[in-house]
Amino acid sequence: MGAAAAVEVVRHWIDGASRIVALTGAGASTESGIPDFRGPQGVWTRNPIAEKLSNIHEYMSDPEVRKLSWQSRLDHPAWTAQPNAGHRALVALDRRGKLHALVTQNIDGLHQQAGHAPDKVIEVHGTMRDAMCMHCGWRGPMGPVLDRVRAGEEDPPCERCGGILKSATISFGQALVPHVIARAMRAAEEADLLLAIGTSLQVYPVAGAVPLAKANGARLVIINAEPTPFDEVADAVLRQPIGEVLPAVCRA
Ligand SMILES: [Zn+2]
Repeated sequence: MGAAAAVEVVRHWIDGASRIVALTGAGASTESGIPDFRGPQGVWTRNPIAEKLSNIHEYMSDPEVRKLSWQSRLDHPAWTAQPNAGHRALVALDRRGKLHALVTQNIDGLHQQAGHAPDKVIEVHGTMRDAMCMHCGWRGPMGPVLDRVRAGEEDPPCERCGGILKSATISFGQALVPHVIARAMRAAEEADLLLAIGTSLQVYPVAGAVPLAKANGARLVIINAEPTPFDEVADAVLRQPIGEVLPAVCRA
């Protein structure tokens, strides 16, 4: 089947589906100018210093690592990034009443910025738009904490207890949030079509949503530039740029 025919087939499947679960990874944000930080070819993975910044043990034990982390948070491209055509296509799908859940490995908040209700988006790796205290559990918007960094606090402590603050993301070495993962898996079980977008499907337990959905009867559509371990069991694999192909398969 040619690429154009495959797009048309997937569009029909999406048209006929009513409980679509989208699973998005770094590839969904690259067209917004956000590099892949944590994938196998990611910025963090290939740079030992950057990797150190994203390791929870280094972060908790070394104030210098935290100072560098705060600077890199200030400079993160997501603060100025805009949702791309792929993000908008998923919003269109949501407005058609077809999107059951949007599970994302991305921490940039661009899906919500594109227009999804916050409770529709399950952020399995957390969000860089919130800060949290590693001691007392305080959690709040990142903006005011970054303002403190800009004003000269190199490693701003929790204002409630003096503890170490961090972005509300899952660092390497840090446990995922069980109820968030459970929600993602439950959504995958309930899906009639799972749309995996811009993810290499190599990071567990999130990648486990794919065989789970399939085992519960969902169609599996993979949109990714590179091969994934699940291409063989997918009903369709589309390799075109996400910003082109996702609007094409999501249009009514
Ligand atoms: Zn605290």
